[in-house]
Amino acid sequence: KRRSEINTDALVTSILNGDITALSRAITLVESKNPTHLEKANTIIKACLPHANKSVRIGITGVPGVGKSTFIETFGKHITSKGKRIAVLAIDPSSSLTKGSILGDKTRMEDLVKDANAYIRPSASGDSLGGVARKTRETIILCEAAGFDVIIIETVGVGQSETTVHSMVDFFLLLKLAGAGDELQGIKRGIIEMADAIAINKADGDNLKPAKLAKVEFNRALHLYPEKSSSWQPKVTICSALNDEGIDSIWRIILDYAETTTKNGYFNKKRNEQNKFWLIQTIEEQLKSAFFNRPKIKKELSKQLLLIETNKTTPFAAADYLMGLKT
Ligand code: GDP
Repeated sequence: KRRSEINTDALVTSILNGDITALSRAITLVESKNPTHLEKANTIIKACLPHANKSVRIGITGVPGVGKSTFIETFGKHITSKGKRIAVLAIDPSSSLTKGSILGDKTRMEDLVKDANAYIRPSASGDSLGGVARKTRETIILCEAAGFDVIIIETVGVGQSETTVHSMVDFFLLLKLAGAGDELQGIKRGIIEMADAIAINKADGDNLKPAKLAKVEFNRALHLYPEKSSSWQPKVTICSALNDEGIDSIWRIILDYAETTTKNGYFNKKRNEQNKFWLIQTIEEQLKSAFFNRPKIKKELSKQLLLIETNKTTPFAAADYLMGLKT
């Protein structure tokens, strides 16, 4: 059967039955650049939407080497051992350059890959973070419709990707190491502010004592931040992803968060705000690419850039001129 002959009704039925093959095929349509595929994808998403929303979406970030894949594997097995299903997605800011460097590596999460209740999908590649993010948002909906209870979105501490992930999850977990300064870990202050929990990983062997000290330090530092609108006080904890220690307490923190914020209304309010944010974001992206892809703009923009180089115009005058061009 050719792709264009895909029966979307059958695909939706299979997705709702939790069929992973159907889910993968639908995600491939979402990630496609082919307009016919995208049309099918939209039909599928629309049909899945009433069945979505029933998961807890967890963002996980931390610098390379902090133990993200080890953590997700241990955490994932913990979740599936409780009879729940977990999907792992990724936002890879470098994917357009390296074609998927974080989840593309097949050797990562070897055990979880074999788990029937786990689904791991490498990062979509794309030209822009916004484009990749949009596909991930749609993939979340499909995974939820397929009955996944927990959705993990992994990203590395690079550029804008944490902010992007933060804007599509319920709970944001920051993995850190003891002993390394924030600068060393490449962690910007804003990311600590976004965290609902900080887990100091590799709290084992000689590292256990420094990890406990770091926990005290972070707790102290976090109390200096103003109260969050969720009225949730971010938690600091230690764990060893390698030895499966402290993992259950992180899961309990997440459950506590979900319960607390569901009760005070913040959980749904945040999802609503995220939906509105993504509407505006998508319009901005589309306007931008529609503008820059106009043949006339392409031609005239290069002329204006030359004029700027030779000081014959200002950026503002050039922008006014370009924005004012008809068709
Ligand atoms: P990522 O780049 O953040 O995904 O990190 P990885 O999960 O690939 O881990 C990087 C290295 O740290 C690997 O050699 C892991 O075995 C090791 N590692 C991960 N978690 C722990 C832990 O809890 N304790 C110790 N001692 N090593 C760990």
